[in-house]
Amino acid sequence: MLDCTPKNIMERSGGVINPAKTCQPIGAIYAALGIHRCLPHSHGSQGCCSYHRSHLTRHFREPVFASTSSFTEGASVFGGSANLKTAIKNVFTIYDPDVMAVHTTCLSETIGDDIPTIIKGAEVPEGKLVIHANTPSYQGSHITGFSNMVKGMVSYLSRATLETKKDQANIIPGFVNPGDMREIKRLAGAMGIDFIMFPDTSGVMDSPMTGELTMFPRGGARVEDIADAGNSRITLALGSYASSDAARVLDRKCGVSELVLKTPIGIRATDEFLMAIRQTFTKKVPYALEEERGQLVDIMTDTHYHFHGKRVALFGDPDVVIGMTEFLLGLGMEPVHVLTGTPGGAIGATVGDFEKEVREMLEAAGVKARVKAGGDLFQLQQWIKNEPVDLLIGNTYGKYIARAEDIPFVRVGFPVLDRSCHSYFPIVGYRGAMRLVEMISGALLDRADRDAAEEDFELVM
Ligand code: SF4
Repeated sequence: MLDCTPKNIMERSGGVINPAKTCQPIGAIYAALGIHRCLPHSHGSQGCCSYHRSHLTRHFREPVFASTSSFTEGASVFGGSANLKTAIKNVFTIYDPDVMAVHTTCLSETIGDDIPTIIKGAEVPEGKLVIHANTPSYQGSHITGFSNMVKGMVSYLSRATLETKKDQANIIPGFVNPGDMREIKRLAGAMGIDFIMFPDTSGVMDSPMTGELTMFPRGGARVEDIADAGNSRITLALGSYASSDAARVLDRKCGVSELVLKTPIGIRATDEFLMAIRQTFTKKVPYALEEERGQLVDIMTDTHYHFHGKRVALFGDPDVVIGMTEFLLGLGMEPVHVLTGTPGGAIGATVGDFEKEVREMLEAAGVKARVKAGGDLFQLQQWIKNEPVDLLIGNTYGKYIARAEDIPFVRVGFPVLDRSCHSYFPIVGYRGAMRLVEMISGALLDRADRDAAEEDFELVM
């Protein structure tokens, strides 16, 4: 399918071919689903909402409920104020969520609908809440949309109501799977601290089969807990792109100090997460976690010869790619092509510089690499054509490149549309790293088996 991609790299002044990102509202919906009894609402046309819901459903294999302002020609010309007010009334009457989380689409952003003013003029039943985030897809990516909605949660819901901060942490996990969120909670729980995680899609996007269809599963961060986040001592923002803006808003609004850490992928980032908890709350790391870490080191030592010197092309969301780059370097691999579709810093966002951060890690390890923020998969394939790799790591869309270039492929990130179960299992923490080692070595050894001559086809590898 991608056999005609040219090797010759020409300067492009504009245009994206095979994007490595998707719409802001997809991230906003995913974040909103991490609030208990919250219904995401798409302020725009039905087509956007249908696409966003189906994309999330295909990755998580779970129903994704979201309402829409259902713009038609009239709203497109005169604005969507009436549509949103009607939607707010109908949604609370018919579906009875505790919170409606409104996000915008390109159309309503282009019209310039003033969402806070519309919400103020809407009939919101007593005890119910409407929050919002502006999510124009001609800026940033789904990660920006996630970040914007988490900022919206903090802006609307969090309050500092106590003179003295509570001995508890806020944890903003970033755009990761529910399996990762469960693992981050398990690690924090094992450290013996009180914490509030938001958003939290565990128990929502990995809810059990009970035989009954429920619009609002048991999981998700409670509104009262997000409110209480304003009384916490510290916010641990995991992943600068998805989580740091909300932590900064919470600091400014409620005086909760912020600590931005990497998404805890691999040994070093997981160590940093646990050390931050240990130092803030003077806790000891329990033996159970030390044991897991030791097991991971043992596994990495046992398998290092599978990885050493292998060249990797890596793409995906910036926080995950940054964490994966560090982990791959720790395995002795060489990430020679590293790309994210998310721009290096969306307008209004205060996130760091993807290219600089990744380059510094690679330079420290002595690896010469191409690194790009705001890139696309056409470019990544051209890089691979010019400098071949032993392995490709990224979301489902990488399978086309893997097939065209005949390279082993490991699916990590969002979206993964052609495999199931993945969202239940973590890639974060020590256990997540063990899983990654298994996935990567499995892909490399499968390829070695495939290519082995009859006399070299080994039973023990
Ligand atoms: S119009 Fe904008 S929000 Fe809607 S699907 Fe297209 S890019 Fe996404």
